[in-house]
Amino acid sequence: MYLKPKTLSEAVSVLAETGGLILAGGTDVYPALGERLPQGDVVDITGLREIRGISIEEKHIRIGGLTTWTEVIRTPLPRCFDALKAAAREVGSVQIQNRGTVAGNLCNASPAADGVPPLLALDAEVELASATARRRMPLAQFITGNRKTLRRQDEILAAVLVPRGIEDAASAFLKLGARRYLVISISMVAAVVRSDDAGRVSDARVAVGSCSATAQRLRGLEKDLVGRAATAGIGSTVRAEHLSPLSPIDDVRSTAEYRRDASLTLVRRALELCVGRL
Ligand SMILES: Cc1cc2nc3c(=O)[nH]c(=O)nc-3n(C[C@H](O)[C@H](O)[C@H](O)COP(=O)(O)OP(=O)(O)OC[C@H]3O[C@@H](n4cnc5c(N)ncnc54)[C@H](O)[C@@H]3O)c2cc1C
Repeated sequence: MYLKPKTLSEAVSVLAETGGLILAGGTDVYPALGERLPQGDVVDITGLREIRGISIEEKHIRIGGLTTWTEVIRTPLPRCFDALKAAAREVGSVQIQNRGTVAGNLCNASPAADGVPPLLALDAEVELASATARRRMPLAQFITGNRKTLRRQDEILAAVLVPRGIEDAASAFLKLGARRYLVISISMVAAVVRSDDAGRVSDARVAVGSCSATAQRLRGLEKDLVGRAATAGIGSTVRAEHLSPLSPIDDVRSTAEYRRDASLTLVRRALELCVGRL
């Protein structure tokens, strides 16, 4: 059965009853189905206006669970969101950005999902709604592996919440693929850097995608960056050992060795971009 609820509460009760497949933009759902028809019920959530769009709250910036990549690009946001906006511009093509949602990207949990590194670098949380409760958890916990999340079948990702307080940080996103457009990444990096009044790094976050089952923060590097001069040349802080949380694989897009090498360069470049924007 095809079901199209109009409100979130209707949607979660329909989901509890049917355990159906959630359909948002469909840009991951349909390619995964190929020529097949969906087995079981489909719950089309595109009518849920209440979880669409981005709003600024006291403690968080709330990205509703139906927000598309185009809406991310068009909404005026603090500069710490520049990396997420840059990632949004790289998701597929304009047509895909018009339909595809941030939440769909996270719930699909591909290792190459462009939305994950920028949101990890913003310490984002996800809000999950079911017929019985709402719960929140860090995005870093939510995605547990290749196409695996902690979402229960009766839950809708209602919002992505970005904690406020680092709006003045600079951010950058770099994606490497085999061609310029409509490309699945070989590696991608998001960085967020903030400096203090003395021009030293006070907060640094670096996340790398496509180089492990789930995108990873480089916590050792982040620690080593704090206190450094937030000026050109900061990229030289990054050493190969800083990439040890990554576990790249050989596949059709790249060898593991190339991924590791390219990631090192991307991390350095992303940090240089950030300090150039401070
Ligand atoms: C040609 C093409 C190019 C692409 N290029 C890129 C790219 O460059 N980078 C990239 O990262 N991705 C890319 N994608 C993948 C896709 O466009 C994105 O992942 C997109 O953000 C998915 O969003 P959606 O709304 O279409 O999700 P859907 O396809 O509707 O859903 C994806 C999954 O998430 C679940 N889901 C969706 N919304 C919710 C919700 N609110 N709560 C709970 N579960 C939910 C669905 O059940 C499904 O399992 C591409 C896809 C295509 C077809």
